[in-house]
Amino acid sequence: MAESKRVENVIIVGGGPAGYTAALYTARANLEPLVFEGFQWGGQLQNTTDVENYPGYPEGIMGPEMMNQFRAQAERFGTRFVTDDVDRVELSDGGVQKVFLGDEEHLAKTVILAMGAEPRRLGIPGEMELSGCGVSTCGVCDGAFFKGKKVVVIGGGDSAMEDAIFVSKFADDLTVVNRRDDFRASSIMRERAAEQPNIEFKTPFVAEEFVGGGGNLDHVRLRNAETGETEDFGTEGAFIAIGHIPKSEIVSDQIETDEDGYIVTQPGSTRTNLAGVFAVGDVVDRTYRQAVTAAGTGCMGALDAEWYLRDTPPSPEAHWMPGGEPTEIAPTPGS
Ligand code: NAP
Repeated sequence: MAESKRVENVIIVGGGPAGYTAALYTARANLEPLVFEGFQWGGQLQNTTDVENYPGYPEGIMGPEMMNQFRAQAERFGTRFVTDDVDRVELSDGGVQKVFLGDEEHLAKTVILAMGAEPRRLGIPGEMELSGCGVSTCGVCDGAFFKGKKVVVIGGGDSAMEDAIFVSKFADDLTVVNRRDDFRASSIMRERAAEQPNIEFKTPFVAEEFVGGGGNLDHVRLRNAETGETEDFGTEGAFIAIGHIPKSEIVSDQIETDEDGYIVTQPGSTRTNLAGVFAVGDVVDRTYRQAVTAAGTGCMGALDAEWYLRDTPPSPEAHWMPGGEPTEIAPTPGS
């Protein structure tokens, strides 16, 4: 006879601030979380240098070091980590949740989805090479490093306007570069940006290449989308704000998402449309997207999972022992 399988109390998918905070809280609740943190664990902060806006670090901290500390704190209370990418999941509405690494199946009573999001990239030469050396995807994170400098913000949506308004507090001279004459941004955001004396708009221009000099960004090559003419536009900083892509592809055919792929949660909670499945961090959040807000929702997800385990009445399913130790489940015949 095949051996029975352990059913975890909680599996967390994702190793950024949201996932690690969910792990910390569920570990301290004695739920023995198992975290699939991804091969490139640490989330977007792994690609960040100085983090100066996370409370508790008055001198700032490097993004990867901060993620190390988040991880170590969760580990201290018994979190187990798998440093690999989940291949697929089989989510259930209140039953056993299944998470797969290749053919290896892991079972759980609850799942907290914390896969994050990634900034949409332009995909042009110099973009990755000069990342952190003048090219940034986060105005709120990096704007303060460009005090008195000349910078561009690329994009024409609300995020681009918000980045421009924020960064213009530091930069002397800021140009918003948009590929169309019309802007996708709401009129109010566009007007607020236009009111700043040091913000100008340059349209319709497409960024074709970031060019460095002395290790830092020197200029961006722009092409006029109507005439095709190119120009080298000198700039010390470039903020790419052309949207984000939530990393929800492994669940998007099983769970409610919005038209852009963000997982939908019930207002004021991390509950999804499936009982026992919770979602936290940037895979849910199209608005704030900060490490501290992701960590906050990670905490919420952990508490929601804990309360779900506590409050769900015993189900007819053999595996279910609410609120207790991880239980075991007999394999289904033929498996
Ligand atoms: P978005 O609304 O999708 O806008 C993306 C912008 O980037 C558009 O101007 C788009 O141009 C441009 N773009 C996309 N790919 C590009 C490329 N390869 N090269 C050049 N430009 C490119 O994304 P978002 O601004 O991040 O906003 C996302 C959502 O969050 C929106 O619903 C927004 O209202 C919301 N949001 C709200 C606030 C606020 O209210 N304070 C702040 C931030 C975000 P095209 O228009 O030509 O496609």
